[in-house]
Amino acid sequence: MLQSGAGGLGCEILKNLALSGFKDIHVIDMDTIDVSNLNRQFLFRQADVGKPKATVAAEFVMKRVKGVKITPYYGAIQDKGPDYYMQFQLVICGLDSVEARRWINATLVEMVDPQNPESLKPLIDGGTEGFKGQSRVILPTLGSCYECSLDMLTPRTAVPMCTLASIPRQPAHCIEWASILEWPRVMGDKKLDNDDPEHIQWLYEKALERAREFNISGVTYSMTQGVVKNIIPAIASTNAIIAASCCNEALKIVTSSNPYLNNYMMYIGDEGVYTHTFAHEQKDGCPVCGNMATDFHAKADWTLDEFIERLKEKPDVQIKKPTLTTERRKLYYAGPPQLNELTKPNLDKRLKDLLDSGEEVAITDPGLPFSLRLNVIFS
Ligand SMILES: [Zn+2]
Repeated sequence: MLQSGAGGLGCEILKNLALSGFKDIHVIDMDTIDVSNLNRQFLFRQADVGKPKATVAAEFVMKRVKGVKITPYYGAIQDKGPDYYMQFQLVICGLDSVEARRWINATLVEMVDPQNPESLKPLIDGGTEGFKGQSRVILPTLGSCYECSLDMLTPRTAVPMCTLASIPRQPAHCIEWASILEWPRVMGDKKLDNDDPEHIQWLYEKALERAREFNISGVTYSMTQGVVKNIIPAIASTNAIIAASCCNEALKIVTSSNPYLNNYMMYIGDEGVYTHTFAHEQKDGCPVCGNMATDFHAKADWTLDEFIERLKEKPDVQIKKPTLTTERRKLYYAGPPQLNELTKPNLDKRLKDLLDSGEEVAITDPGLPFSLRLNVIFS
């Protein structure tokens, strides 16, 4: 059994697995312990600050639960290849990063060899965000994968600038206005320090003024801090619930004692306690488990730069520094410098001068664990 992630969710999962009777667990985590973790990551103590989470968590649980062997690895999941992942019966993830999840998902899908049933490793994925969470069972290639559901995430691109500048509708809009537009306008080159209470206070006052002007209520100091630092509070009880659900599924899968989750359980705990379980369906043309190029509609007059910006807005794409190629030419390379230099002029060219309608564009990106293929169709 492999566990990936030894943070808030990971501490709960590791403890549950050990107490459920799993005897041989590997745990991977690339983080070290921060003092702010101590309120909920209960396997860590003050004296552990600065040490690797995986190592400390493993030692703690082995000391408390007799007969369990936990092998820690302090590093990124990407350090390991298919040979490593092949040794496990099951992978359970308590990660806070979309990138890491996409990577492990794509790796496990890629590993499936139809001739070898052992190569199919069930993936149990838990995630929490404040009072909300989800757990899911992914059977690579047989059902919906992590990538299939990526469009359920809220788009990470924020509110359009024009909303911030002219027609705020929510308290967060006023706060973003204060930090993105008002701070540089008033403060010039002075850098905004999210950890400086005076800076936050300044933003809070500006946001409050603006909110009053537009009749918006709800701007508070702690909300200002949250929006500016993009903090989603970590809640120990949510972690405990989601970890329990994940470990329950792990136990059912390895013992065949009961049918396992099919395949997605969401939990919402901010207004009462609500859960909903449903079968998330495999997405047609999922770039990971569908392995086909998907259609993407674009205007022939868009510049390549505009095209890339549109791609970045799509929640199911999530790219940062993409490289785009077609069969015939290199469209754009974000790096290395020589290739970037060579392809940068294309950014200002129109799509119609670079592509034919329906032509396939392959996109690679540090945030993508696979190469995304799009049929760019002019509309
Ligand atoms: Zn998929």
